[in-house]
Amino acid sequence: MHPPSIAHPLALLCRVGFEPDLIEELKAWFHARGAAVTVDSVQPAVVRTGPTSAVPRLTELVFARDLMVVTAELPTLGVKDRITPIGAALDALGPFSSLSVLAPDSEATKPLAPLLGAIDARLQARVQPGSAPAAAVWMLAGTHAVVGQAPASGGARYPGGIPRLKFPREAPSRSTLKLDEAFQVLLTEAERNALLRPGASAVDLGAAPGGWTYQLVARQMRVTAIDNGRVDAGLMASGLVTHLREDGFRYRPPKPVDWLVCDMVEKPGRVAELVARWFAQGWCRAAVFNLKLPMKRRFEAWTLALQELKALTGKGFMVRARQLYHDREEITVAVVPERPGAPVGTGAARDRPSRQSEKRGLPHAAAPTGKAQRPGAPVGKGSTRDQPSRQGEKQGSRHAAAPTGKAKRKR
Ligand code: SAM
Repeated sequence: MHPPSIAHPLALLCRVGFEPDLIEELKAWFHARGAAVTVDSVQPAVVRTGPTSAVPRLTELVFARDLMVVTAELPTLGVKDRITPIGAALDALGPFSSLSVLAPDSEATKPLAPLLGAIDARLQARVQPGSAPAAAVWMLAGTHAVVGQAPASGGARYPGGIPRLKFPREAPSRSTLKLDEAFQVLLTEAERNALLRPGASAVDLGAAPGGWTYQLVARQMRVTAIDNGRVDAGLMASGLVTHLREDGFRYRPPKPVDWLVCDMVEKPGRVAELVARWFAQGWCRAAVFNLKLPMKRRFEAWTLALQELKALTGKGFMVRARQLYHDREEITVAVVPERPGAPVGTGAARDRPSRQSEKRGLPHAAAPTGKAQRPGAPVGKGSTRDQPSRQGEKQGSRHAAAPTGKAKRKR
């Protein structure tokens, strides 16, 4: 395995159309470290860098879904035998504990799905369970592969940054998957266990028709849903939802709640300011919110919104952000207390200076690990999740455009 001091190019995956944003983000990251590294994109959903020994943690990037330290580029594979050269490149890595074979999530690479399965089936035997790094093969085209490994700081929780979440039949909007994914990707297992517990209280700003509220109710949480629009009748029948037709920017909770979630379509700075106010007032102890980014300069918009949240990181909270797989022209942000067990509204978590969060830095402080918490009894009877197996999380072939359940309703 190559020591980190050796410079390698990096390859990163993002949502199609967001390459300029990831490029800008990476340039800012390298610039802040005084590293002169080229960054560009010649293919949808893929961003490449020149050789660098400075490697960002995936959790430090908002617009990247996955990151590979590239140790071999094979741009002219023969169609008759791709396995021999790819296998040799993998062998050169040394032992590896898992292997993912995937293609960028784009229209052009969709037809590669069967090829990925075939390559994966031939290469999995090389995996040696243990603590060695994760290896990856990304097929950029049918005869073009990059081979490498996850960064030492850890790769994507799900290969290609694509979780397989099943759309729950009873959920009133596809948007439900955004909050589900946010809980899986932006929270650690310990945080999910401590914060998403039955009986916890939540406010959902911009709740209608109720996709996010559904995720909270599925975890047996009590939700105040704020929206002038109609909230799904099935959710209301759960007895766990109070619907208030109020303005989310004016609403004040009568007493502190465990969770604030917010999916209102508004300017990112305005939403970030609102969330910052909720924490400053001690109205909530954790939050997940969506920032809509319909503008051209999305990285800049996020950087400005982040300014509104910066004060929280010195007050016992961690701020993490990511363009999730289920996000479109938007990103999702989580604010979680460093001590998830601290009681709500006491200010206990807020007033303690955070050396940990300073050290870890924004926007995403810690790589989430561990298995997803199974939600409590969902509204209705359908299963809410098609949780990947542990093995499936770590390895296995997956086209980055793998389907994630059928959406019957629009967001
Ligand atoms: N999260 C919802 C779901 O999963 O079903 C979808 C929310 S939708 C993207 C945005 C919602 O925000 C709309 O229902 C809209 O009525 C609401 N909204 C926008 N501005 C609002 C405001 N100032 N106060 C309350 N709700 C607002």
